[in-house]
Amino acid sequence: MTVENLRIGVFVCDCGSNIAGAVDTEELREYAETLPGVVASIRNKYTCADPGQQEIQTAIRENNLNRVVVASCSPTSYEVIFRGCVEGAGLNPYLLEMANIREHCSWVTPGDREAATRKAKGIVKVAVARSHWLYPQDEEQVPVTDAALVIGGGVSGIQAALDLADAGHPVFLVEKQPSIGGIMAQLDKVYPDIECSI
Ligand code: SF4
Repeated sequence: MTVENLRIGVFVCDCGSNIAGAVDTEELREYAETLPGVVASIRNKYTCADPGQQEIQTAIRENNLNRVVVASCSPTSYEVIFRGCVEGAGLNPYLLEMANIREHCSWVTPGDREAATRKAKGIVKVAVARSHWLYPQDEEQVPVTDAALVIGGGVSGIQAALDLADAGHPVFLVEKQPSIGGIMAQLDKVYPDIECSI
C-alpha cells in the first residue's frame, strides 16, 4: 500500500503516571501526527480501559483508519485485547501494531524526561513504519497431531518432556546415546546438595 492510501491512527497511552510520569506524552502525540501515513493521533489516559478502547473504535470509524498503532505497554499484556478492539470496529485484527513505550522506555529511562520522550518518539516512529507493511490475515484452524517430539535426552530435554506430559500431551523423547541424562549423567556430585547427579 502506498503512503497516500495509508490512514494510520496512533493512540498514545499515559498509563496514568506509568508512562506520562516519564515521557511527555502530549509531545509524543504531536510528533506521531507528523509521521507518514498518520491521519489521527490521540492520547488516552488508559488505552486498555473501556473508554480508551471506545476512543480507538470511534477514531477508526470517523477517520476511516486502515492501520492502528497503540503506543503503550508490552504486546504480551494487551495485544490480544487491542486486536479484538480494532476488529470490533470493522478492521482486520492484524492491521494493528504496538509500540512498547512503557517496558522499553518509561520504566527504564527514569529521571530524564527529555531522553525518555526522544526514545519514545523513536519507538513510535519504527512502529508506524512497520504498520505500513501490515496486511490483513485470516485465521484458520487445521487438524494437528496432539503429540510432541523432544530431541535430546539431556536435562533440558527431560524437563521439557516432563512439562509437556504434565500438560497432558503424549511425548516421544529421542536420544542418540544408549542412556539419557546427557552431561549431567557424567557428573559425580552436584551443587548445592552435593548429591549424586543421577
Ligand atoms: S494499555 Fe498498557 S500502558 Fe496503557 S493503561 Fe493499559 S496497561 Fe497501561
